Amino acid sequence: EAKARNNGGCTAFEAEMEGRYLDRQKLKSDLREAIGRGDLSLAYQPMFTPDGSRVVSCEALARWTHPERGPVPPDIFIQLAEEMGLVTDITRFVVRHACRDCLTWPAEVAVSVNLSVLDLHGDEIVAIVAEALAESGLNPARLHLEVTESCLMDEPVKVQAVLRELRERGMAIAIDDFGTGYSSLSYLDALPVSIIKVDRSFVRDIHVNSRRFKLLLGTVNLARALELKAVVEGVETAEQLQLINEHNCADLIQGFVFAAPMPASAVAVLCGHGMPEPVAERTA
Ligand code: C2E
Ligand code: MG
Ligand code: MG
Ligand code: MG
Repeated sequence: EAKARNNGGCTAFEAEMEGRYLDRQKLKSDLREAIGRGDLSLAYQPMFTPDGSRVVSCEALARWTHPERGPVPPDIFIQLAEEMGLVTDITRFVVRHACRDCLTWPAEVAVSVNLSVLDLHGDEIVAIVAEALAESGLNPARLHLEVTESCLMDEPVKVQAVLRELRERGMAIAIDDFGTGYSSLSYLDALPVSIIKVDRSFVRDIHVNSRRFKLLLGTVNLARALELKAVVEGVETAEQLQLINEHNCADLIQGFVFAAPMPASAVAVLCGHGMPEPVAERTA
């Protein structure tokens, strides 16, 4: 049900956007203004130990509420920002706020920020992250950076150098949406990666499709063999959770079964109470 609502919203929005070029231009100029004014916000989605007893880190997810159209899905506005060359301004906003918000949580809890492929091609990202860490005083080990597999394919030399630099400064690198790109696995060995986030498409039908489940299990075991942590994303139902736990096939779990994205203050409450509570937000 949560999924239907979540995807339903995004799909309708995407369908509406398509073929409406003028609308897109208007949305772009509104987004440019919103970025300029810092008129974005963040929601955080916790990643839990598989038994759900403890929050280990929280993913920062950018939110933009358009004055007339309401919440715009991040998949949409991130792409618009990339097209306008403004995505690194969003990253700067997110990483700054994420560092500050992380300091309001218990010291064992990390924060994870998504980077755009364009951040990795530019020359500013190391300085942006370093500045956010310096001005907040956050321990770099509490800042994780998520990049997608496809980021690793264009300009691999540049991207490797940037990731190495970030890693050397103490941050952890996570591969997001793992298993959906077209890259070879050899980068797992070559890059300073310490976390993989198995894409939610590997979880969707595990309880009806045993080959799918074996793919998930094999992927998580591959990660463990390389001493990487495996986060399983998009766990929505009690059945999925039970199957994952019966076979010990996740190091961390992120999904609606435990918690949807929520404000930073709700993360603080959640960590204080130790157990997940129902929250309102089901994504934009
Ligand atoms: P992602 O990084 O893979 O983030 C996870 C997305 O999956 C989030 O959607 C989250 O709400 C959703 N999700 C979490 N658990 C479940 C679940 O159990 N079931 C389902 N169906 N979905 C679940 P959201 O917030 O709409 O973000 C979508 C994508 O937008 C993100 O995917 C990321 O690629 C991008 N994004 C969001 N914030 C940022 C940002 O600050 N910077 C960049 N570069 N990209 C961002
Ligand atoms: Mg992510
Ligand atoms: Mg993801
Ligand atoms: Mg994703």
